[in-house]
Amino acid sequence: MSISYKERIARRLTATTAMIILVVFAIIYGVVRLTVVTNIDRDLQLETDEHKSQIFLVNGEIRFIHKGEWQEEEHSQLQLNPIFIEIVDAEGNSMDRSPNLLNNHLSFFPDRAGSGEAWTVQAGSRELRQMQIPLYNQGMIEGYLLVAKSFEDARETLTNLRNVLLVLYPVILISLFLIMRNQADQSIQPIRQIIQKTNLITQSNLNERIPLSGPNDEIEQLTRSINDLLNRLEQALKREKQFTSDASHELRTPLSVLRGTLEVMIRKPRTQEEYQQKIQLALQSIDRMTATIEQLLVLARVESGQSIILEELDLLAFCEDYVFQKKLNTDREINFLPQVGHPIFLKTNEKSLQIILDNLVDNSIKYADESKPIEVILGKDGKEVFLEVEDRGPGISMEDQKRIFDPFYRGDSVLGSRKPGAGLGLAIVKKLCDELNIQISVESEEDKGSKFRLLWNT
Ligand code: ADP
Repeated sequence: MSISYKERIARRLTATTAMIILVVFAIIYGVVRLTVVTNIDRDLQLETDEHKSQIFLVNGEIRFIHKGEWQEEEHSQLQLNPIFIEIVDAEGNSMDRSPNLLNNHLSFFPDRAGSGEAWTVQAGSRELRQMQIPLYNQGMIEGYLLVAKSFEDARETLTNLRNVLLVLYPVILISLFLIMRNQADQSIQPIRQIIQKTNLITQSNLNERIPLSGPNDEIEQLTRSINDLLNRLEQALKREKQFTSDASHELRTPLSVLRGTLEVMIRKPRTQEEYQQKIQLALQSIDRMTATIEQLLVLARVESGQSIILEELDLLAFCEDYVFQKKLNTDREINFLPQVGHPIFLKTNEKSLQIILDNLVDNSIKYADESKPIEVILGKDGKEVFLEVEDRGPGISMEDQKRIFDPFYRGDSVLGSRKPGAGLGLAIVKKLCDELNIQISVESEEDKGSKFRLLWNT
């Protein structure tokens, strides 16, 4: 059974309050009991002290200093709050007692004889508070003076107090629980509204936001967080849509070219030369599609978030080898210019680094001036290791520099040109750099050239 949040808050608070109230009630009861008992004990003490100096036991006989006081009214009549007195000998046998005791006797407790404390005893149907002191004759205990006072009024007060507290306890707790549940219900009302509004937002109205209302409290922060999340979701969905439409467009163009070429070929018989020319065109379209699909696959692999394996790699040897291999496959001049003479070991992934470098160098080959060399520079600056690919090409405008790492983005300057490409190379480079913890930046000046810089913080 699921318990609602307001119920949980109310239960938790009530349980805590129940403990606090219990402690408070226990303290109240304890303090009242102590006060009542202390008052009675003080009276008893006064009474005992008074009689101690007036009564003597001499050879088993009782002697009074002021006999009249002993016979005064309070000890003879049954008063509202009487004092009971009894004198016993050393063995505890009654020698005399106040008339208000009637046929009853006070109990004698030899073990508590000289303790000077008072205790509660049951005498017949009455509850008494009793004190007991020894009576001496020439340094010897001749008997005991027992003084007692009714405890019934005090007991009644304490019982009444206990009953009131026992009735109050559940009443307070039930009222508290109901009030807290009501308060909790009101407190979570704004959250309920947020839930309602959030439930109404679907993919079709993802641009809607939860209205901000009220003070800048936790509820407002929650609303802001949900709105920020919706913003991010909306942006991600937009990017996704844009990506799908760009990808389809990128594949549709060579497909249309391919279809057009094949239709032209089939329309009427052609010469061998014409066939060769058209087939060449068709193959170019297929190559373009293949290149785009391959790049899309690399991008999908990087975006799938599969964890990449990092291994120690000597960057100096890797670059030397890379440039050497690249030169074998191109007639362009590529120079490797290391600024360090010793190996630089880094934890990276060789295959990913190869793809990054390939894309950067291929772009330089594609866009830069054919007569100018491309330079690959490796260096170290303090704790930073950098690897640069520099060309003397058309450069990239400031506007384009902000977007060249977006998928399918192609610079303004290359759009009119016949340079092949789908605008995916640098998007792949950026994703791989993020995966390998490499900072990538570009410095470029139009008509002068571009420099792509990879940076490792070691
Ligand atoms: P593609 O080369 O297929 O267009 P990229 O993602 O590799 O896609 O590059 C994106 C854009 O960045 C290119 O279209 C181009 O405008 C610009 N660019 C990249 N490298 C260079 C470079 N070395 N020189 C000039 N422009 C470049």
